[in-house]
Amino acid sequence: MKTVQIIAEVRKTVSDARSGGAAVGFVPTMGALHEGHLSLIDAARSACDFVAVSIFVNPTQFAPGEDLATYPGGIEADLSACEARGADLVFVPDVETMYPRGAVTSVSVSGLSETLCGRSRPTHFAGVCTVVTKLLNIVRPDKAFFGRKDFQQLVIVTRMVEDLDIPVEIVSCPIVRHADGLAMSTRNQRLSAAVRLQAVALHAALESAVARIRQSHPPAAEVIASAREYLSTNAPDGEIDYIQIVDPQTLRDVETTDRIVLLALAVKFPGARLIDNMLVDSAGEGQ
Ligand code: AMP
Repeated sequence: MKTVQIIAEVRKTVSDARSGGAAVGFVPTMGALHEGHLSLIDAARSACDFVAVSIFVNPTQFAPGEDLATYPGGIEADLSACEARGADLVFVPDVETMYPRGAVTSVSVSGLSETLCGRSRPTHFAGVCTVVTKLLNIVRPDKAFFGRKDFQQLVIVTRMVEDLDIPVEIVSCPIVRHADGLAMSTRNQRLSAAVRLQAVALHAALESAVARIRQSHPPAAEVIASAREYLSTNAPDGEIDYIQIVDPQTLRDVETTDRIVLLALAVKFPGARLIDNMLVDSAGEGQ
């Protein structure tokens, strides 16, 4: 496995692999890797011949006052994990490499970026889209792998590559959870033991909402009200940022639940803001 900090070297390594006929898979991350990230590397490993991973905590997707300064790190452990899972190349640029002349150019996807997480993080997705565009231009993969943990990000990036004719296939990968249901997240490590117990309520609230939808397809507002009540009781230290039921393609709020819907929520706990979601298909199956 090669660890590379320089853009030209990434380009050369990937183009050498491609000239040998290799299909290139790419997994962009912000590091502090856990099994959720590593499952994306596994998916890339099984679908592609050459696997590139990036580790870059992108400052432009954090607003002032968010947790950029305290975002967890641990590059040595990350590199060992990438190697163990069979990555061929890890790109670890610094901020100067990615934004040598500052960040005056930006890519934004309107219509999908203002809802859900975009309400409380209005500049977040432009930061994500810009860095993902840059990384795709640097690595030029055939396939790029994203987790459904960040469902809105996946929808936005998929739309972005379609609209900008970026020649890559975006591959959607399932959410990896802890045994108690909590979605794995780098930010979980910042929760106290007591709050970690409460954080299980996010998954439990989604499960019970999915069960209600499956049973009787109640109006979305009713499902949201019960999820809100469940969270207030079971996660008293969490401040609900949003609970929404949306169309999984347009991310617009829906009123009825007798169709494919996405249940998504975000809760601010002391130490970390957590997100989670579940897709309910037309047969009422939660995913
Ligand atoms: P991040 O390092 O948080 O930017 O995440 C990098 C990629 O890993 C994104 O595509 C995330 O959706 C994905 N990811 C993070 N956590 C999980 C998880 N628990 N399950 C599946 N994918 C995940």
